[in-house]
Amino acid sequence: MIDTLELIAIPPEDEALRAEVREFLAQTLDGLAPDKRARSWMGFDAGFSRQLAERGWLGLTLPREHGGSARGHFARFVLSEELLGAGAPVSAHWIADRQSAPLILKYGTPAQQAFYLPRICRAEAFFCIGMSEPGSGSDLASIRTRAVPAAGGWRLNGSKIWTTNAHRSHYMIALVRTSGTAEDRHQGLSQFIVDLSLPGVSVRPIEDLAGDAHFSEVFFDNVELAEDALIGAEGAGWAQVNAELAFERSGPERLYSSIALLECWLAHCRGQAEDTASQAVLGGILSQMAVLRAMSLSIAGKLAAGLSPATEAALVKDLGTELEQAIPRLIGDALARRPDLPFPPPLLRTLAYLEQVAPTFSLRGGTREILRGIIARGLGLR
Ligand SMILES: Cc1cc2nc3c(=O)[nH]c(=O)nc-3n(C[C@H](O)[C@H](O)[C@H](O)COP(=O)(O)OP(=O)(O)OC[C@H]3O[C@@H](n4cnc5c(N)ncnc54)[C@H](O)[C@@H]3O)c2cc1C
Repeated sequence: MIDTLELIAIPPEDEALRAEVREFLAQTLDGLAPDKRARSWMGFDAGFSRQLAERGWLGLTLPREHGGSARGHFARFVLSEELLGAGAPVSAHWIADRQSAPLILKYGTPAQQAFYLPRICRAEAFFCIGMSEPGSGSDLASIRTRAVPAAGGWRLNGSKIWTTNAHRSHYMIALVRTSGTAEDRHQGLSQFIVDLSLPGVSVRPIEDLAGDAHFSEVFFDNVELAEDALIGAEGAGWAQVNAELAFERSGPERLYSSIALLECWLAHCRGQAEDTASQAVLGGILSQMAVLRAMSLSIAGKLAAGLSPATEAALVKDLGTELEQAIPRLIGDALARRPDLPFPPPLLRTLAYLEQVAPTFSLRGGTREILRGIIARGLGLR
């Protein structure tokens, strides 16, 4: 089923957070080059995450007893939007804050909550997501990494790939098989919190086209996990992962990956004579962005109401990444129409970076074809 996405306004008390965050970012990020800003939620800076934590901006929605600020999803939307809009290097804490913490809050035992959540809020525990494996990306249910019962807990063997920040995180939330075979599909999958410093874990960073190493291969060789490494129920991993993906897919990070380029191009245009072709390009981008932002906000409203809008989140991610990918192309074409004008090098560097990484926008978090399958199923078309 797919629900109507109602138009929602951010409550004034949450909107009030915006000015405070914006002022902090203006001071803290002053002088950060646009091609660095373009990395934003791929940009790793643990010190910056700690600065946010000191202000109570990590774990914003978590209960106070766990170190959170007990704010709602709209406050978090405002904070995310400002961080991404400014191109803040948020990658260190992003996954823990966005999806590991809500997962632990929902499925964790009181002991797991008491251990991990305050550390996430203090920017002392960074997490990565171990879903994809060699040969199992879109077809996630076919994963082969396996945990078997062993004395005092579990023994883990297998490997993960494309794991964002595995080489600089403390923990992985890994989806693994605990019973049956790859042919059993959704049955027999479970989630574990894996301490990445344990013996038997090895991590090998992978460099991307732009020269950044933000994701890794991870190998598990007879890793001994304690009993309480299991999170949620054994065998319920598939349902848990799907609830988690609604958090992963719907946020403003699926709209703003190219915003640093847009800002930089606008600054360049402001110094030029009026150009109606560029104005039309800008109008097209902003009108799409406004609609997508309203859709993303509406999903924040559903999450706030305790719903799990997985189909709607897939829709927003698919449309959002399409726009994010179109922006570098549209701006490149607009610049090419005026070869007589000198281009500032920071603008060209930012454009070149985004041209290289834009194809990944519709891969990370689930590919376009897979999302469209989910949307079609949600609409009752398959
Ligand atoms: C920047 C980045 C960060 C990532 N971070 C993480 C992470 O932190 N954790 C993690 O677990 N994974 C991560 N991934 C992996 C990502 O989730 C997978 O790359 C993605 O799910 C696709 O899987 P695959 O690479 O195995 O491609 P495949 O599944 O082999 O797909 C290849 C192509 O075939 C198409 N295809 C596959 N099946 C079908 C089908 N049934 N119908 C139609 N078309 C189909 C796909 O759409 C795609 O175009 C990341 C990827 C990137 C690019």
